[in-house]
Amino acid sequence: MSTYDPLYQAHCQGEAFASSYWASTCQLEKPMAPPQRDHTYDVIVIGGGFTGLLSAFYLATEFNQKVCILEANQVGFGASARNAGFALPSSGRLSALQMGKKWGVEIAQQIYHEYQTAVSRVAELIDQHDIECDKQEQGYIKIAHSHNAAKGLLSGLEYSQNVLNDNHLSFIHNDELQANYINTPNSFGAVRTTHGFGLNPLKLVRSYKSLVQQVGVDLYEQSLAQQLVKKGQAYRVKVNDIHITAKKVIIAGNAYNNRQIHHHLNNRYLPILSSILVTRPLSTDELIATGLKTHQVMMDTRTLKYYYRLLPDNRLLFGGRGAVFGKDQAKLKYRHHLEAALKHSFPALQNCHSEYHWHGYIAAALDDHPHIYCEDNLAYAIGYCGSGVAFSAQAAYRLAQMVSGQPVPKLPIYQTPAPKFPFATLSRLGQYGFYNLAILKDRLY
Ligand SMILES: Cc1cc2nc3c(=O)[nH]c(=O)nc-3n(C[C@H](O)[C@H](O)[C@H](O)COP(=O)(O)OP(=O)(O)OC[C@H]3O[C@@H](n4cnc5c(N)ncnc54)[C@H](O)[C@@H]3O)c2cc1C
Repeated sequence: MSTYDPLYQAHCQGEAFASSYWASTCQLEKPMAPPQRDHTYDVIVIGGGFTGLLSAFYLATEFNQKVCILEANQVGFGASARNAGFALPSSGRLSALQMGKKWGVEIAQQIYHEYQTAVSRVAELIDQHDIECDKQEQGYIKIAHSHNAAKGLLSGLEYSQNVLNDNHLSFIHNDELQANYINTPNSFGAVRTTHGFGLNPLKLVRSYKSLVQQVGVDLYEQSLAQQLVKKGQAYRVKVNDIHITAKKVIIAGNAYNNRQIHHHLNNRYLPILSSILVTRPLSTDELIATGLKTHQVMMDTRTLKYYYRLLPDNRLLFGGRGAVFGKDQAKLKYRHHLEAALKHSFPALQNCHSEYHWHGYIAAALDDHPHIYCEDNLAYAIGYCGSGVAFSAQAAYRLAQMVSGQPVPKLPIYQTPAPKFPFATLSRLGQYGFYNLAILKDRLY
């Protein structure tokens, strides 16, 4: 099992494709070949996940650019085929209320709108291109883990409805939650939005791959961008002994970027492990006992959140934080910790063992919000913080606009570089301290 940690290792090339539940639902394709000779493009995209693939798609289809994608392993190697498949109207870690406090109402409204548009954008891509990705019923339910958290959810709901004009939201009282959605002993009411849904992320990322191939983007897999330098007006990227040149570059390696990819991005994000379990299909008796009556996606309100949903075949997917250090990710105690959390949330599943367990990295920004930023014709997207299935589509569209010289909304998520972590190599110790404080806070609050 992998011990890869992007904070300490130079790059991710050669790491294995995650043996996730998703990988069991499709045949893994043979990777495409790396470039065999030097090339020149309008734009080089580094990274073949949701962000890189869709940036290339929009550049080719809406901005008439000649584009190539360099993917170190194969499409979907990174977070895009390891995630829980929740397409949500959010990104980063700031709540609606926190955005309002930080930026004022007008900016918060516009950023909120970007997050909402992201979900519509993915839904439209799925519809327009007949993408088969096991899209589930609409609905994202955020469940309060305490009385205090329920009060917090209610004030957030009022702010989002009255100030940010969100009409997809409703409050669900605990008796209604238990009768119609889920009967867990740890709930205190919930907020539900109809603007979110679950899907199979590996099927989605592979469909994005087909889309870019159909529109003439050159996709190179097994192609690590080793070195990125500017020569005159153009960037030159080295892949094995081949040089690829372009005036513009998009770095879409997210948490899997090379440790030192470019000074614009180095030390500006923290890769954090998240971990997922998938059980065997639940029996009818187990479904009745857990009171799981929906395939809508769910998350709790803890600082260290648990997220879960019933998959189309009635397996339960359950996710939460992973190990702090990459070298520890395969240690059994982390799997046991997640299994214990699952059983605490669903006491009826004491004897239901998980059949799949895998991990992946998300990228957190120091100021808890995403940064889609372009300087000197070099653009990047970072800081989705575990919320990128939908937002990557909007980010990709904005990246394509930025490198094509088109205006984008004047918002902090598009205009400010991600701040640097002050003591990057000590970040894991900070993360360890944060987890311990958060565990305490989640118990008390
Ligand atoms: C366990 C887990 C659960 C999650 N659950 C959810 C969820 O339910 N909902 C949600 O919204 N978000 C979720 N996320 C986050 C979401 O998966 C990510 O935000 C999203 O997939 C990021 O996509 P991306 O294309 O930006 O990056 P990635 O998918 O990580 O792609 C980056 C790619 O770049 C390649 N690469 C890196 N460096 C180089 C280089 N130098 N040269 C060439 N290629 C390179 C890598 O090989 C990789 O394939 C989750 C993440 C994890 C890990």
